[in-house]
Amino acid sequence: MSLTEKLAIQTPSPVQVITPHWAKLRDIQISIKRDDLLHPVISGNKWRKLKYTLLEACDNDVKHIVSFGGGYSNHLHALGYCCHQLGIHLSAIVRGDYSQNLSPMLRDLLNWGADIQYVDRATYQQRAEPQYLQTLTTKYPSALLIPEGGSQLQALKGVAEIVDELCNPYDYILAPVASGGTLAGLITGLTKHGKLTDCKILGIGVLKGEGYLEQLVTNLLAKDEQTKNWQINHDYHFGGYAKSNHELAQFCSDFHQQTKTKIEPVYSGKLFFALRDLIAKGYFSHGSRILALHTGGLQGAR
Ligand SMILES: *Cc1c(COP(=O)(O)O)cnc(C)c1O
Repeated sequence: MSLTEKLAIQTPSPVQVITPHWAKLRDIQISIKRDDLLHPVISGNKWRKLKYTLLEACDNDVKHIVSFGGGYSNHLHALGYCCHQLGIHLSAIVRGDYSQNLSPMLRDLLNWGADIQYVDRATYQQRAEPQYLQTLTTKYPSALLIPEGGSQLQALKGVAEIVDELCNPYDYILAPVASGGTLAGLITGLTKHGKLTDCKILGIGVLKGEGYLEQLVTNLLAKDEQTKNWQINHDYHFGGYAKSNHELAQFCSDFHQQTKTKIEPVYSGKLFFALRDLIAKGYFSHGSRILALHTGGLQGAR
């Protein structure tokens, strides 16, 4: 049985055309790639990013994984579920002490048999430092370390499969950006397959990170993939990561009502809010065909 079958992942995810009641929508066509439907528990883009890392882990008979995230992390949640199903032990290193007020996400992790280590901000800051990683390797010699968000080189191959699954042409592909792995994977997918050669990729930064997010994406891309067909818009972070306001909350609820598609304020809410606003401002030319990637993440909104 393949890993995808074992975890009952439903690929390819469907593409749906939506017609929300937005100003100046006119002849612009909006499609959504519904990666939120890949699995009822495993959050969409986190599966794409983890797929090849987990395949490799299974091939090498890895029994222990260590990874990082915040108290509501979709990455740790997806990874925790996969590890539970695959008989791999997960040690989750979590930013901040939630031991007295577990989030629903952390409760799930514990139910799936993970152990959680709460670390302070200063320690968490070191999550990608070689010296800190060395102490973890010494502590857990047989464990596989996966970086925050699952954003590492293997992640790009899994995300690029989103592009493989597309059957129709698009002028723009939009996706939210936090650690950059998803955007880098989409860029790789477009470049590698020579598909959709006129298609531009527009990332929507969900945290304050002008310059920084571009650097994260560039660092993940190989030298021969440094194309110019992508950019990141920084006007829709709403004050920072997981920051929201009444307008965004109302937008998410209206969007659900109009399109029957649930979104949340951390990632997909900011993505679609940006899309509506950019359309209203005339950013896209007439007749543009836009594909927005619904990356999932609804567990985080609990
Ligand atoms: C993690 C996450 C993102 C951000 O993806 P990156 O690859 O970290 O940029 C977007 N949407 C959802 C739902 C996520 O959980």
